[in-house]
Amino acid sequence: MPRHCATCNRSEKDFKFYGGFCEVCAAKRLGDKLPKLIELERCKRCGRIWVNGRFADPNPKALEEAIAQKMRGYRIHLIDNDDEGALLDITEEKEQGGVSTEKRIAVKVKTRTCDDCYKRASGYWEALIQLRGQRDRVERLAARMERYISKSAAFISKTEDVETGKNIYISSKTVASGMISHMELKYTSSFTLYGIKNGKRVFRNTYAIHL
Ligand SMILES: [Zn+2]
Ligand SMILES: [Zn+2]
Repeated sequence: MPRHCATCNRSEKDFKFYGGFCEVCAAKRLGDKLPKLIELERCKRCGRIWVNGRFADPNPKALEEAIAQKMRGYRIHLIDNDDEGALLDITEEKEQGGVSTEKRIAVKVKTRTCDDCYKRASGYWEALIQLRGQRDRVERLAARMERYISKSAAFISKTEDVETGKNIYISSKTVASGMISHMELKYTSSFTLYGIKNGKRVFRNTYAIHL
């Protein structure tokens, strides 16, 4: 004798069953136990969202990933989203196969400032490049460096005109030294102790370049 759904009495003859429930009721039960609201984190300055341990551009793929991390145990497909929430196609794997339902889930956004924006706002820098020499040469090279840095993950914290040239402060030592070797510039370097971070001494690098 065919089984009947514990909730609606539909018969196993006409509907797929998941345990004691028909597919219609199984999907409804899935919808009912899902969270109504999830919380995501977004940087209030650059608008990027927190996903996979980093801040990422808030495109649909990243949003889908961020939501999936808050709803472990389900397969998530983002159908649509707006300021208040996301329409999702959600699948739960069962012994008898996947049960799916479409559900709109409210998304609450918690804002904070990401590390990059914090560093920018606080004028953080790790490398100082001192360009010295003829004014027009200094300006040309400074412009090239600005272009290079704008395409990198680093940023220029500030620039200073001095009598004999220009100082450029860059947020990343790695990017600064990579740029100098990429441009095949001759330089002399020095290091100053800046502070202690996680028990390690942190140095700032100064590169003096004479043109
Ligand atoms: Zn049913
Ligand atoms: Zn940011």
